[in-house]
Amino acid sequence: MTETETASAPRATAARGGDPLERIYADVLRRNPGETEFHQAVREVLETLGPVLARRPELAEARILERVCEPERQIVFRVPWTDDAGRVHVNRGFRIEFSSTLGPYKGGLRFHPSVNLGIVKFLGFEQIFKNALTGLPIGGGKGGSDFDPKNRSDAEVMRFCQSFMTELHRSLGEYTDVPAGDIGVGAREIGYLFGQYKRITNRHESGVLTGKGVGWGGARGRTEATGYGCVLFTEEMLRSRGTGLDGRSVVVSGSGNVALYAIEKAQQLGATVLTCSDSDGYVLDRKGVDVELLKEIKEAGRGRVSDYAEARGGDCRYVPGGRIWEVPCEVALPCATQNELTEDDAVGLVRGGVLAVAEGANMPTTPAAVRALREAGVAFGPGKAANAGGVAVSALEMQQNASRDSWEFAHTEERLTGIMRHIHDSCHTTAERYGSPGDYVVGANIAGFEPVADAMLAQGLV
Ligand code: NDP
Repeated sequence: MTETETASAPRATAARGGDPLERIYADVLRRNPGETEFHQAVREVLETLGPVLARRPELAEARILERVCEPERQIVFRVPWTDDAGRVHVNRGFRIEFSSTLGPYKGGLRFHPSVNLGIVKFLGFEQIFKNALTGLPIGGGKGGSDFDPKNRSDAEVMRFCQSFMTELHRSLGEYTDVPAGDIGVGAREIGYLFGQYKRITNRHESGVLTGKGVGWGGARGRTEATGYGCVLFTEEMLRSRGTGLDGRSVVVSGSGNVALYAIEKAQQLGATVLTCSDSDGYVLDRKGVDVELLKEIKEAGRGRVSDYAEARGGDCRYVPGGRIWEVPCEVALPCATQNELTEDDAVGLVRGGVLAVAEGANMPTTPAAVRALREAGVAFGPGKAANAGGVAVSALEMQQNASRDSWEFAHTEERLTGIMRHIHDSCHTTAERYGSPGDYVVGANIAGFEPVADAMLAQGLV
């Protein structure tokens, strides 16, 4: 049994008692069987909302939590396509339109063999509160497919994307639902998806997808935004403790979009990034990862971190299948995937003197690991706050599309910096206001929940 599943079980039993949060959680378990990641995400949010419900009985009366845990719409569809040899494949597509309370559904698409309904729902649920934290007018959604783009030719990826969009286009629109990228969906996939949407609808509706190429409606700075934002959030957490990233040793996991730009920004702020990884292993580069070389290798033929280690030479070491968190560091930034940093990893990091952990990925830290870090007094930035920079710049891309404008990189970066400070400060002050100073988990959950709850009350029973 996984850590996630064991974490769920006692709550289901306890839920027979009178605690309304326990009852809501038990209902979520009953109505969404087997969706362990979704259970984990809901549980993590509900656990921190008790003080809000105690202060604001009108929220319980209007059943805000019951409503927010139920997606407004769940779309599941067949995606048939042919490979280069003419063989037919059938994948499954998902789009969870979770909440349109604050704006059009907004959230990325993930193409990875592990994708299932529970994973898309966990991501969509998190997205509601993350998007609210940005202060920008965007609702929450998420989607994807169990299609694996790895080792597929460009033509195969294009045919898959065209088939996926042929079905999904009827649910999208710049005022309705605006997807972006996520794991396995980068500039190439967004291009194919946008092309097919345009062809089917006969509309050049720039605002229907974000993460587009800069030459055709994309925002400068969107590629960098999630990784940069995560590091800016970390810098703010350290500043509130009277220190900063300058001179610090940092461990980053992953080598995709988020990881690459987390490495770049951490180094711009004076830190040394010791690692990067993929699902095959990690690289230990004590002189500091050469991010330009890593980008080059990833971009040319979608290379692996083992190729980077080989090209880098010298002391740089590739550790196949190793646990990246065994590398001692002062700052840890998990930027690969969910549940990649376990309780044992967290205990090891604490023993090694870690000061801050910020989630570049979505839910990369297991609940037990989060507990261990918080109990040890480590500054812990949960994903819905720390990685909100990506969706924030997506919302800025929508603004540029709506006004048919295109901003300079420096302008977007300045806006991103302001937004990450705002998110940090609202998490910080909210945690204080609810009696948990310095606890960014409490701060992010409540500061993300309150604006959604207030708007739901104002909008009536919908
Ligand atoms: P990419 O596909 O660009 O990169 C993902 C990276 O994580 C790759 O290095 C990949 O290695 C590694 N990885 C994936 N699955 C596993 C696994 N099971 N074990 C170990 N490593 C793995 O994705 P992104 O960088 O865009 O996304 C990373 C995380 O950040 C995700 O959780 C995503 O939801 C989150 N996020 C992304 C945003 C964005 O703007 N892109 C915004 C906010 C959050 P390999 O090549 O071997 O698969």
